[in-house]
Formats: sequence, structure tokens, C-alpha cells
Amino acid sequence: MTPRASLQQSVPMTPLSAVPVRQLNLPNGGTLELLSHVLSLLPNPVYVKDRQHLWVEANPAFCDILGRTREDLLGKSDYDISPPDQADVFWAMDDDVFLTQGQNINHEALNNAVGETLWVESQKSYFKTEDGAEYLVGILTDLTALVDIQARETALAAAEGKALASARAKSEFLANMSHEIRTPMNGVLGMTQLLRGTGLTDQQTEMVDMLERTGDALLSLIDDVLDFSKIEAGRLKLSPEPFDLRQMVDDVVVLLGSSARESELDLIVQFAPSLPCYVVGDRGRIRQVLLNLIGNAIKFTENGYISVEVDGRVEAGGLHLSASVCDTGIGIAEDKLASIFEKFEQADGSMTRIYGGTGLGLAISRDLVTLMGGTLTATSVLGTGSRFRMDVNLPIVANEPSSQTDADINPDIKGLKILVVDDLPPNLKVITTQLERLGLCADAVGSAKAAVEHLVTASQSGDPYTLLITDYHMPDCDGLRLTQTLRRHESFKALDIIAMSSVSEGSVRESFAAAKVNDYLFKPITLANFDRMIMRSAARLRGDAP
Ligand code: ADP
Repeated sequence: MTPRASLQQSVPMTPLSAVPVRQLNLPNGGTLELLSHVLSLLPNPVYVKDRQHLWVEANPAFCDILGRTREDLLGKSDYDISPPDQADVFWAMDDDVFLTQGQNINHEALNNAVGETLWVESQKSYFKTEDGAEYLVGILTDLTALVDIQARETALAAAEGKALASARAKSEFLANMSHEIRTPMNGVLGMTQLLRGTGLTDQQTEMVDMLERTGDALLSLIDDVLDFSKIEAGRLKLSPEPFDLRQMVDDVVVLLGSSARESELDLIVQFAPSLPCYVVGDRGRIRQVLLNLIGNAIKFTENGYISVEVDGRVEAGGLHLSASVCDTGIGIAEDKLASIFEKFEQADGSMTRIYGGTGLGLAISRDLVTLMGGTLTATSVLGTGSRFRMDVNLPIVANEPSSQTDADINPDIKGLKILVVDDLPPNLKVITTQLERLGLCADAVGSAKAAVEHLVTASQSGDPYTLLITDYHMPDCDGLRLTQTLRRHESFKALDIIAMSSVSEGSVRESFAAAKVNDYLFKPITLANFDRMIMRSAARLRGDAP
């Protein structure tokens, strides 16, 4: 027996000699016979040593572990079967028990007769008979299985930690890449939109259409990959805020209306009239799910219609929303219905070639709805059509604010004096050209430092800027720090500041709000959004809007 490590020091316990000895209730002679039988049946290795450290009894389990017969062991000591240095250790432990007349428990590794390493709990107890003879009773308990489980659990926890760290690193890398790709894409798409308004021939318009479509497709692919990595790393957080449900559904349908029209499909919206519209939820993410479902419905429907049915019931101050997207498309085979929600799964591999796509959309949508505490389910009949249904609970905003639409904002924007700051010249060009289209003149600078210089000079000359449009990501000082710096000075407290970002994380929104950014837009910036943003700024500066 080779003790290789002791995991626990001796523990003082009630000495065996202090436990009252009770006679077994058996006829004379039966007691010993029975005890010997019990010992031979015990799965624990058990032995008895006398005061000279010699074995006087050993049960079969103990003999098995040492690979020796009982006859071979009795009358021998540890020095007869173990190397002297190990026998020294056992001898000292036995002495400890004899001298203290107590008990000790150690956890140790030992090699059994067939060379396996076992982790055992070794318990040695003192015992003295009525005639004064002293003994040591040793009991071993094999803990190997337990230690293996613990080791496996530790290894599993370590592997999990490693996987999480690598998923996080991947997620960060993808977030950076996404930003790097989005920023130039913003320039490409912005220029494409402007190009459209320059009197193009039919052929050129077709080319611009293609440019825009491929640009949009690339952006949505980047978004999917980014979301997927965030979900994998457990980093996707929802940003609930009050929003107008009907408005959001209308926006989605307007957005996808043209692709439905191109495919000669009717896109119908049925919004239950009694449904409360002003609710709290992550507007962007609910919109993303609807976009995915309606986008798929359009993609997988050759002819017929797509219907978006928004219904629900009010329960305990909340809206149980059921939004379904139904189509008359190709449908999905029953045995594929569950797998289409798996990542990278498509109902038919060959569809990739016909319809395109990554197989990520539904997986992300389901993860998002689950994150909201809801469900996303599908029913379908092959060749007839499909129905995807999202169920989610959304708190209702008690006092619906009198919704001020953009149409209510006075479009008089001529009085704005605008400074634009962005480190990338193509972005500056896109923004200033978009402003020119609205009849607005703007100054453009390439860094936060230059922006501060311009703002200070203008303010000192008595003709201050009223609106600053700043990029969020800039190398020397980002838009957030620029805003924070400006807000510390009395002369820039009233300056209207709009930030533009290619990252739409909830944390970025919170930081913008905390830094007192008046408004923000996430790239790519469409003309419609851009125009609305300028209208809102003008309204704020007139004191017409918050
Ligand atoms: P993608 O559309 O990019 O392939 P999704 O995860 O959105 O990825 O969809 C996964 C698969 O589910 C699709 O490839 C298609 O096979 C099937 N699918 C999704 N929506 C529909 C639908 N409305 N009609 C038929 N099949 C659909």
C-alpha cells in the first residue's frame, strides 16, 4: 500500500474505546462466527493490528486490495510488505492512534495489487479489550469514483470557462470587424442613395438598385453574424423602452413593401383594432424578428400573399402579444419543422442555391424571443404555406403619451448652423451632401480637436453653431468624450448634439443619454431617417420638442 498524498490531517474523533461495547444477542459461539461473517461480507477493506503493529485480522476486501492472502498477512507488519520509508509513515500513524488512544482519518492515494491508483479514506481507531489488550482497527473507504467525478467536474468547469472566454474573444473580434466593415459600407450606401438622385439612365438605375441590394444584403449578413456571436457568448442584452407597436409594424411593412411588390405578392397587415399600442419592449429586436419572418415569407413564396396578423389580449397590466406571419409559399416538410430553428439549418440544403441565406435568421429570432421570455413557433404544410407565430408579454404604458409624429414638427430648418465631425472623409462627404440636399450648409472637420476649435471660435465671434453632428468612433477622441467635454462649458450646454454610430448596443444608447447627446442615429443612415433627425433637431432648438 503506497500512500502518495494525504489530503486531510488527523481528525480528533470519539475513541472507539469510549463507545460502549454491547454483547450481540446471540448464543455463545454464535457471536464470533457472526462477526467473522460480517467482516467477510463488508465491501470496505478492514484490518486489526495489535500493539506490536502486527496484523491479527484482515477481511477479504483488505486482502484483495493488497493482493495477499489473509494467512500471508497475519503476524506481519507494514515493514514486511511495504518499502521502509512508507512503512515508517504507517507506523507513525499507528503510533499516533495507540498513544492518543483515539482515532485518525486521512485521505490518501494508494496503489492496489493490480497497480491502479485508488483514493481512499483511511480511518484508524483505538480499541482496548477488558483484559487490557490494545488493538488498532483500520477501515478503508474507496473514494476514487467520487474524486473522479470531482476531477471531471473541475475539468468541465475549466473547459466551460475556456469556451466562454474564447466565445467572448470571438464576439469582440466580430464586433470590431463589424464596425470596420459597416463604416465604409455607410459611405457606399450613402453615396448610392445620392447617386440615384442625379438623373440616371434606366441601365444606370438598375446598376444602382443592384449596388443597394448587395450592400443591404452584406450589412444584414454582418448583423446576423454579430448577433450570433453575441448570443453564443451570452452577451446579447435587451434594451426595453416604450414604443408604439402599430408604428413599428407599419414601418417594417413599409420597409419590406417594395420587395413584396417586386415579387408580385400582396403584403397585408391585420392589426387588431382594440390592441393597446404603446408598450415597453426592445423595439429594435422585435422589429428584427418581424423583419426576418416577413423577409422569409417573401423569399419562400412564389405567388399569393403574405399576411401579418397582430393580435393579443390584455392580462395583468401587460399585453400578451401574438404576432403571426403567414404565407402561401413552398411550405416546410413536417420532419424539417423543428430543425429550421437550429443554427445554419435550412429545410433543404439545395434551397441555398435557389433562395440564398445563411440559416441563421430563425435561430437568432428564436433566441431573441426566448430572451424576451416568449416563444416562436411554426406550423406549415408542404406546398401550401407556413405560419410563424411569436408570443411575448409586453408591459403596457399606462398613460399613452400624445404621440408627436414627425409630421407635427415644423419643417422650418433653415436657421440651423451645423458642424459635422467625422474622421473618415467619405462619411463627411455623405453627410454634408445630404445636408445640402435639404438646403443646409455645414462645416466639416476631421477630428474632435478641430471640432472644439471651430465651436469655440464661432462662439467667441458671436455666431455660434447650433447643431453638432458627430461620429461616435474617432481615433483621438470619440463622439461621447467630445460631448462630455463640451457639456462642461456653459457656452455649449444648449448646443444640439447628434451622434452617429455603427454600434447599436444598449450600453451605447445609455452612454449617449448620460452624456446628454440629444439624438443619435445608427448606421447605415437612410435619407428618411436623416431628414427626420434634422427636423427633430430644428424642433428642439425652437423649443418645440424635448
Ligand atoms: P435563411 O433564410 O437565411 O436560410 P432562416 O434561419 O431564416 O435562414 O431560415 C431557415 C430555413 O427555414 C430556410 O432556409 C428555409 O428552408 C426555412 N424557412 C424559413 N421560413 C420559411 C418560410 N416562410 N417558408 C418556407 N420555408 C421557410
